[in-house]
Formats: sequence, structure tokens, C-alpha cells
Amino acid sequence: NESTKAPEKIKIGFSMDNLALERWQKDRDLFVKKAQELGAEVLVQSANSDPQLQYSQCQNLLAQGIQVLVILPTDGSAIAPIVEEAHKAGVKVLAYDRLIMNSDLDYYVSFDNVKVGELQAEAITKLVPKGRYFLLEGSPTDNNAKLFYEGQMKVLKPLVDKGDIKIVGEQWAKNWDTNEAYKIMQNALVANNNKIDAVVDANDSTALGAIRALEEQGLAGKVPISGQDADLANCQLIVEGKQTMTVYKPIVLEATKAAEMAVSIAKGEKVETNGTVNNGKIDVPSMLLTPIAVDKSNMVDTVIKDGFQKLEDVYKNVPKDQWPKQ
Ligand code: BGC
Repeated sequence: NESTKAPEKIKIGFSMDNLALERWQKDRDLFVKKAQELGAEVLVQSANSDPQLQYSQCQNLLAQGIQVLVILPTDGSAIAPIVEEAHKAGVKVLAYDRLIMNSDLDYYVSFDNVKVGELQAEAITKLVPKGRYFLLEGSPTDNNAKLFYEGQMKVLKPLVDKGDIKIVGEQWAKNWDTNEAYKIMQNALVANNNKIDAVVDANDSTALGAIRALEEQGLAGKVPISGQDADLANCQLIVEGKQTMTVYKPIVLEATKAAEMAVSIAKGEKVETNGTVNNGKIDVPSMLLTPIAVDKSNMVDTVIKDGFQKLEDVYKNVPKDQWPKQ
């Protein structure tokens, strides 16, 4: 029976901002694993945080005959024209974690990013209801950074208006870079004669730099500071009392959902979504997942229980008799 031709294997292109951060390596591995389980092949490209390189890598993926293009953008605006190029090639585009702005983007998968910011500010204001706050924000070219800020301000603004909180500075760290954050925090401490009572920090890579600067002034553990991603180094700092909290986003859910969506798109099946997000041009059908605030008290029940980090790794620098019973 000559009609039984093997169906062509689904080919997915996955263009990623960078693979330097711990989380993005996890995202890649989980995405590829799930897509392969579903019978697809994934071509992964990392752009080393270079928007132009990312653009040409996407064009290159399109030239390789992919059916779906999944993009974790470095710059959500600079990458936008690729959506039209993809559509001309008959390829749909799924934005991964970060939105692609002002385009006819097909789908978006992420967490509720405004909620992430709320969780960060809620945790810090609970500890420091009054005082001088410094805000360390993320990459100005990442739409998520704006959403985290928006969520933080939802919580902070009423307290600022009441006069309880004074925001003494606000800076955005290029590429979410740890060294950049270190310098920003150093300068903020100098400018304020170390009189900073709390830091609302948008993610773990920047918190790492900020905590290094606080540590140099003997302030680590004294000045509450938030983060996001539950990276290993930051989970360690949390159980050691130097970072207040992180926002844990079960990446396995995000990466798995994205792989399922990508395969459904390729097969022309109905794609599961649970809302929309406006990208300046259209309401993009989206799948938004729920972030979880994690501090010392629920580290075991969340990050460790899920196998996201291992107990022996997180507690590595804590004397063994102080380890929690699992
Ligand atoms: C992600 C965060 C991450 C940050 C830096 C954001 O877009 O949502 O999880 O910490 O980028 O890579």
C-alpha cells in the first residue's frame, strides 16, 4: 500500500534570549523533552542576549522548514517584525515567557507577571511597613520587567501616598545582569549613606548582585530583599537568611504547556489558552500560569518538594543539625 507515507516529523524552532541563567537551561531541557515525547523535533538557538543575533537566528530557523516558531525574546519590540516574516512562510509564532509587542503574535505562554510583582512587594512590605525603599528592576527591553514593576507598584503606591514608604531610588538592570545590579546597589547605598530599609528586587540574578553589595556594607540579612526564579544560589541565600523571598514559577508547567501548544499549532489542532494579553496591537490568546511566593518557611513544601531544587543543595551551607525534616 503505497499510500501509507510516514507523516512528516513536526519541526519546532525555539529561539532563546540566552542560556546563561539557570532557569533558561531548565526551560530548554523541559521543552525539548516534552516536544520529543509528542513526536516533534526541536531546533534550539540561543542569542546571547543580542537582539540582532536573535533576529537572524529566527530567520535561519524559518529557512530550515520549521512549522512553529517559539521565541523567548531578548527585546520584545525589536523582534516584532519576525512575526510577519513567519506568517509569510506559513509559520505561527508562540511567545515564550516574554511577550512580543505590537505584532499579530499568535500565542503567548507565561506566568501572571503582574502577580509576580505583587508577591514581591507584599513580602517586603509585610516586613518593612514603613521606611526607605530601593527598587531594582529588570531589563528595560523585557515586557515582563514592566509587568513586575506594575505589580509591585500596586502594593507600594498606596503606602507611598500614605507617607509610610519613601522610594529613594529606582533603577533598571540591563539584561538582568548580576554585575550591573551589583553596581547599581553599590551606588544606591553610597547615595543614601546606607540608609535603605528594604529592596524590592525583580529577580534572582539581580538580587545576587544586590546582596553582594549589601554584604560588603554588613547589611545582608538586615535589609529585606526580594527575588524571582528560585535559582539555587538564591534559595541558598534564603535559607541562610540573606534573601527574604523568591517567586517560584514551576517551569515544568510552562515548558510543558508551551511544547503542547507548539505541537497543537503544528498539527492545526485547537490550542489550549486561558486568557488574552494585549501586546499593543492585538489581544494575544494566552496561557498564564500562577506564581508562588517562597521564603524560608515554605521552601521545603514548594521548591524542594517539586524536585525543582534538592534539599542537600539548598541547605549546603547550613549546619546539618539545622536542616528541616522532610
Ligand atoms: C523572566 C524571569 C527571569 C528574567 C531574567 C524574565 O522575563 O520572567 O523569570 O528572571 O526574565 O531572565
